[in-house]
Amino acid sequence: MTARQPLIQRLCVIGVGLIGGSLARALREAGAVGEVIGSGRGEENLRAAVHLGVVDRYDTDPAQAVIGADVVVVAVPLGALKTVLHSIVPSLSTATVITDVGSAKGSVVADVEQIYGQIPPNFVPGHPIAGTEKSGVEASFATLFQHRRVILTPLAETSATAHQLVRQMWTLTGAEVVDMGVHHHDAVLAATSHLPHLLAYTLVDTLARLDDRAEIFRYAAGGFRDFTRIASSDPQMWHDICVANREQLLEMIELFVTDLGQLAESIRTDDHATVLATFQRAKRARDNLYLE
Ligand code: NAP
Repeated sequence: MTARQPLIQRLCVIGVGLIGGSLARALREAGAVGEVIGSGRGEENLRAAVHLGVVDRYDTDPAQAVIGADVVVVAVPLGALKTVLHSIVPSLSTATVITDVGSAKGSVVADVEQIYGQIPPNFVPGHPIAGTEKSGVEASFATLFQHRRVILTPLAETSATAHQLVRQMWTLTGAEVVDMGVHHHDAVLAATSHLPHLLAYTLVDTLARLDDRAEIFRYAAGGFRDFTRIASSDPQMWHDICVANREQLLEMIELFVTDLGQLAESIRTDDHATVLATFQRAKRARDNLYLE
């Protein structure tokens, strides 16, 4: 009996970090890839990727790394995406499917349009809704995407074959794959991910600049730890995301600042009923969210 062909003969992952490394690990465990080539700037991370069995080999030049790949996954911070995409253009075959994992999609589509002059049919924008506050290949693990969602934002130009291949690839990691429009994706993620990260960073930064910060942090309990865990995420990555999703994020910040201002006013004016009603409404919403 002949062995079943893997879904992807040669996979190239540019940016073998938490997301790129976890994807490579998951696809290996699923028997979905023949060979995995890694690329990135730092040899130390790439050597670790080989040592950990995440990739078979690597090339620090992305233009070399993508040669002969069936699928190229670009998993670098959003601010580096354009340079990376630009550098691989001359080495790509028309059959190569390209996808990304960027946390904002409008900026990625704009970058791709600028580089190619149009959206190539074999480009499928994607975003796994999974992660941790850790970075680098050492932080990657094969089960990261299990029972998580992956959003694909295919465009009118995207070929059905490329879309289907990327969908299958993510499904094999144990994720549920959903399609969404680019603008809708960015609005939803601004609310559910980008604003919360910005709030966590701001809260920790505000407290860390107080004179009695040592005393404050000494008495910080579980609630503070839970709320601020994501402020340990990579600052450069989150800088890039906030810049990339600027318009949608600014809308959410304005909405939040208005609501926070109203709550402050309720406290100032001893409007206890409004304060309590706000907390009750939020508790109901939070409890229902995790009952679904
Ligand atoms: P990460 O662990 O820091 O990995 C990023 C990788 O990209 C690193 O291996 C880095 O290696 C490489 N890299 C950085 N700049 C590069 C460049 N100019 N050229 C080539 N390689 C470069 O970050 P991550 O968490 O996996 O995030 C990667 C992407 O996934 C980001 O676009 C992010 O928006 C998206 N994402 C993240 C999460 C999350 O929760 N972390 C969730 C969903 C999506 P070198 O520094 O050695 O080059």
